[in-house]
Amino acid sequence: MRLVIVGASLSGLRAAQAARRAGHEGELIVIGAEPHLPYTRPPLSKELLQGKQEIEDSALPVDELDVQWRLGTEATGLDRTRRRVRLQDGGEEHYDRLIIATGCRARRFDGPGAHLDGVHTLRTLEDAVALRAALASTRRLLVVGAGFIGCEVAASARSLGVEVTMVDIASHPLVPFGPALGKRWAQMHRDHGVELRLGPGLEALYGDTGSERVAGARLSDGTSVEADTVLIALGATLNTEWLTGSGLELDPGVACDPTLTSTRDPEILAAGDIASVPAALAGGARVRVEHWTTAAEHGQLAGRNALVAHDERTAHTAPPYFWTDQYDAKIQALGCPALAEHSELLELSPDGGRFVAACVQGRLVVGVVAVNAARRLAWYRRALQTPRPLTELKEALAQEDATLGSPVGAMP
Ligand SMILES: Cc1cc2nc3c(=O)[nH]c(=O)nc-3n(C[C@H](O)[C@H](O)[C@H](O)COP(=O)(O)OP(=O)(O)OC[C@H]3O[C@@H](n4cnc5c(N)ncnc54)[C@H](O)[C@@H]3O)c2cc1C
Repeated sequence: MRLVIVGASLSGLRAAQAARRAGHEGELIVIGAEPHLPYTRPPLSKELLQGKQEIEDSALPVDELDVQWRLGTEATGLDRTRRRVRLQDGGEEHYDRLIIATGCRARRFDGPGAHLDGVHTLRTLEDAVALRAALASTRRLLVVGAGFIGCEVAASARSLGVEVTMVDIASHPLVPFGPALGKRWAQMHRDHGVELRLGPGLEALYGDTGSERVAGARLSDGTSVEADTVLIALGATLNTEWLTGSGLELDPGVACDPTLTSTRDPEILAAGDIASVPAALAGGARVRVEHWTTAAEHGQLAGRNALVAHDERTAHTAPPYFWTDQYDAKIQALGCPALAEHSELLELSPDGGRFVAACVQGRLVVGVVAVNAARRLAWYRRALQTPRPLTELKEALAQEDATLGSPVGAMP
């Protein structure tokens, strides 16, 4: 059996490793658009940017994997009838089973001034190296977009002593966690010296007359922000163009059943940021998450599932899990906080620095957000395989606290 994986990053690598571990002895081909062997992205906005890690530290170990790597090669098309992946160089790869793991790329600003020097996005190793070099001589950084990457870069830049302005059309940073928690994140950034401009959007970037270097930005409320470096952190665009015309269901990720099998083709599976998979916490609706742990889990499962017939495949059931590090806060989230109508504190440390909040939809807890309460997360992850009434979760929590002796005091 010839197994082809398109996408040589986290989920693609985990799929290849899992397939070999599960006994796949046939050909294993991994096609990757980037010239590198797989590396991990979380440090790119944190340790690498702060100078605490070097480029080689982000490499993911590839073990003694017997893989034919096709790196620096983009897949440009998929012919399902002939089971061929078309390549940029005009070649083709035949597959018996295919795993799609092509993830996302950074969304770009396409308004005036987007082409100026000093305007960055952050997704790849090259992006991180370029931004790190730029920050070394930056006086004021403008971060456009207060999502996870924008907030992490703002925090990293502050640790380097760079002045930071962060703008977002939303009323608070980290929108998926809702407004109540959003106020805390806003305060956290202000406490660390970030100037937040919430509400107006970016209209245009401009340079000084006769210069190709960015000097600032004009916002939709008519105000301006001076900046000699700009990070556009407006989210991600899915790498699905190569699947256009393939007949796969794209919604817009690759629509899959719970076993990560394409809804249109049992020989094709998807994993990681690109996969759109039914989630119990979303009432069975398909969700796509851009989280490291989910990408790793998807990869492992897709690699195993690709080796067996569709009716022998197992489902992905673990709730989504995500972490982000900003200043001295480790923020972790489980489930689907973006679906919640409100959040409610479940646990709070006496000094208020550590807490766990439930993200609630109707009576049901659909997600949990924790700050500096890492040891509590394993319990919540087990407890939240499916949506649970808030009252039931609180009762179960009370019992766990008594037996485990939680590091975080229960809410009075
Ligand atoms: C700066 C940064 C920080 C992050 N920090 C965190 C964090 O703290 N916590 C967390 O949970 N998550 C974090 N993430 C998210 C996490 O890294 C992603 O969820 C994870 O990388 C997804 O892995 P993937 O393999 O699905 O996709 P990707 O990592 O996007 O990899 C897809 C690969 O496919 C390649 N590709 C695309 N199109 C083609 C094609 N047509 N042909 C061949 N190859 C192709 C791409 O070049 C890429 O190498 C962060 C992401 C970034 C960018």
